[in-house]
Amino acid sequence: MKELEDRILKDGVVLGGEVLKVDNFLNHQIDPKLMQSIGNEFADYFSDKGITRIVTIESSGIAPAVFAGLALGVPVVFARKQKSLTLTDELYSTEVYSFTKNATSTIVISKKFLDKTDRILLIDDFLANGQAAKGLIRLCKAANAQVMGVGIVIEKSFQIGRQLLEEENYDVYSLARIRAFEEGQVKFVEKEME
Ligand code: 5GP
Repeated sequence: MKELEDRILKDGVVLGGEVLKVDNFLNHQIDPKLMQSIGNEFADYFSDKGITRIVTIESSGIAPAVFAGLALGVPVVFARKQKSLTLTDELYSTEVYSFTKNATSTIVISKKFLDKTDRILLIDDFLANGQAAKGLIRLCKAANAQVMGVGIVIEKSFQIGRQLLEEENYDVYSLARIRAFEEGQVKFVEKEME
């Protein structure tokens, strides 16, 4: 998605440890117009999948997910990173390891908000090693809901996430695919290589 790639080149900051900081439009300050374009793009791509609900993870997945939900006319549920262990009977829960934080957290979704009849679109801000996406898939599976696809705003294609999801036959649609960081510069996957 050209608009997103241009914005990454303009405002993205490459940090050490293979992390891209995009807090100017996605991870801290949010650009609603860009999020709307992103949401529309996901909605177009997954329009024929009969999506009934979008599932994402707090906090940075919420903005793109809400705009996709608006465009598809479906509700959006975000998995919470749980701090307390209250009411676990009412929740689907799983552990997710985050390499950016070097920590494992428990993510939960209320049983009220996932149903076995659901056809789910997963959305997240970044795809790196795929652990967040796989955690969300486990929550959906626990509810016997079907995951129809995975929409990612920024994929770091040099990490293993896409491969792990494709091995399980998930349709991964990423709006920007980063091939490498070279001397602090973002290099995208060439279109013909996709
Ligand atoms: P994964 O679970 O695929 O390894 O990582 C995805 C999660 O880690 C995303 O939800 C995102 O919050 C965070 N993440 C991974 N890589 C980056 C990055 O380069 N920049 C930012 N801002 N977040 C990242």
